[in-house]
Amino acid sequence: MRYTTEREHAVRTTEHLKRWDVLEPGGGALSRRLDDGNILMACTGLSFRWWDVTVDDFIVLDPDGDIVEQTGALGASGTPVHLALYREFPACHGIVHAHSPHALAFASLGAEIPSVTNQLDTLGTIACASADDLVVKQRVAREGSRHPIPPGIVQGPGPYAVNMEIVPQILDTLRPRAAELDRHGLGFTIYRHGLMAIGRTLDEAANNAHRIESGARAAILQATLAGGLSQVRTNPLYA
Ligand SMILES: [Zn+2]
Repeated sequence: MRYTTEREHAVRTTEHLKRWDVLEPGGGALSRRLDDGNILMACTGLSFRWWDVTVDDFIVLDPDGDIVEQTGALGASGTPVHLALYREFPACHGIVHAHSPHALAFASLGAEIPSVTNQLDTLGTIACASADDLVVKQRVAREGSRHPIPPGIVQGPGPYAVNMEIVPQILDTLRPRAAELDRHGLGFTIYRHGLMAIGRTLDEAANNAHRIESGARAAILQATLAGGLSQVRTNPLYA
């Protein structure tokens, strides 16, 4: 097995993210760029195993999603977003995706997470990217996929098309802030889905994921203390 040190680090990072309630059984993924430019990516299905992971549970992909070293399952379904971020931002070397509940509450509204803590000020307001999953998947069922799926990624054409709909929004949002990656990471959420945090290292991405989640929790608690939430709707952008 290659990349043993990096695989062990990814396992330890997974344990930290579980301990601090960022990774939970609803889903998620983590990845890092390796020194040779390849990507170490969490395999699909780990959340269903309660994130009890070993070094085998990460796949090595090249930047286009072809398999370099496979020791378990294929790459998680969000892999296309990870690969797009690594392609766009050379300073990005780590990514964490999580379905943590407080960030997900904002994402369920398609709402930005405001920075109400000094910790989150570093990342600023956390924007939300969105796609109407149902419409995209119906289009793919009708017309077929416009995108070939790389061999290292587990995915049907519908979910892959949803990822491809979201990627340009994320890149447009983060591109003007690319220079900030020299100093710290960045983050965003995906509508009704979860958060993504990027960093100069996997450790920084993990720290940023926790910043976003704890910042979202503080904002919700602040709203509660200040008089409550006005409305909660199930699919506010597209229903
Ligand atoms: Zn997810």
